[in-house]
Amino acid sequence: MKERKITRQIRVGSVPVGGGAPVVIQSMNNTKTADVEATLAQLNALSSAGCQIGRLAVPDAEAAEALAKIVPRSPLPLVADIHFDYRLALKSVANGVSALRINPGNIGGEAKVKAVIDAARERNVPIRIGINGGSLEKDLLARYGPTAEAIVESALREAAIFEKYGFDQVKISVKSSSVAKTVAAYELLSEKVDYPLHVGVTEAGTLLKGSVKSAIGIGLLLNEGIGDTIRVSLTGDPVNEVIVAKEILKDLGLRKEGVEIVSCPTCGRTKVDLEKMVAAVETALGNMKADRPITVAVMGCEVNGPGEAKEADYGIANGRGQGLLFRRGEVIGKYKEEEIVAALLREIRRDQKEKQ
Ligand code: SF4
Repeated sequence: MKERKITRQIRVGSVPVGGGAPVVIQSMNNTKTADVEATLAQLNALSSAGCQIGRLAVPDAEAAEALAKIVPRSPLPLVADIHFDYRLALKSVANGVSALRINPGNIGGEAKVKAVIDAARERNVPIRIGINGGSLEKDLLARYGPTAEAIVESALREAAIFEKYGFDQVKISVKSSSVAKTVAAYELLSEKVDYPLHVGVTEAGTLLKGSVKSAIGIGLLLNEGIGDTIRVSLTGDPVNEVIVAKEILKDLGLRKEGVEIVSCPTCGRTKVDLEKMVAAVETALGNMKADRPITVAVMGCEVNGPGEAKEADYGIANGRGQGLLFRRGEVIGKYKEEEIVAALLREIRRDQKEKQ
């Protein structure tokens, strides 16, 4: 992995973004922002899953008004996502959001962009310039076609407006639904600016497809040292976005926390219901806050099972209807298939408690 590219740092509420700070996970609610209680419930679920910055759509005055009630109770700093109407941005800032996401190109001209910049500056609120490959300016499309160059040119054009007014609390995203185009756009942009970059593949799709696309796109960029905050876009419950984002960061070695579960793919030798076992372990430990990374291996048989289980902090090596339980390389018991997961969880929880 290449060294992280050091960008300028901004702060979204209390969360530093860029400037060498750890890569930040963010997500976006799919509740109606005007529905205060549903929005807060989802923000709490996102926060519990490990999300660090929340984003809310603010499509109308009702949503902007609701922010006054949401912001004081939100567990996360909030970004208001605004299109078309600059007054919604002004209201959102007045109601205490920690950041704005706008596309200056559709906010209604430079005077309106300036009004938003002035309000943001007064409250120390950073702004994300969010360029989307699907909504590029006509002249850029005519000159470059629907390319990474066009996306980057659009971002630079918008950034120039902010620079003209001396506002540098900016981060930029240049997303496309094509992985190759997204990667090319961020590579190009990161050569040209030192603003922090919000990285993601937009409209990536459903859980399976979207996770693969995001892991490739975000993973390739992070591996090149590009990206200060990430959002995995998935159709459906945004909590899944946070889970996938955490896995991407863990697999790249950018997060060393929580529980890493190793499980075999199963094959004709498997003599237990391994899928059920792994699901139970994942559900129980997925959100556990360990003081250091813990590896747990759940293996199907005696071929690779004992080896993997021994190397992990905790492990199960299954046989026919029963399995061996390992703790730090030692066998500590033999349990029936129905009992072994509970025994594993008991050991892990006891060790964690003893350390507290
Ligand atoms: S560990 Fe055993 S059951 Fe699992 S895939 Fe390997 S050989 Fe098959």
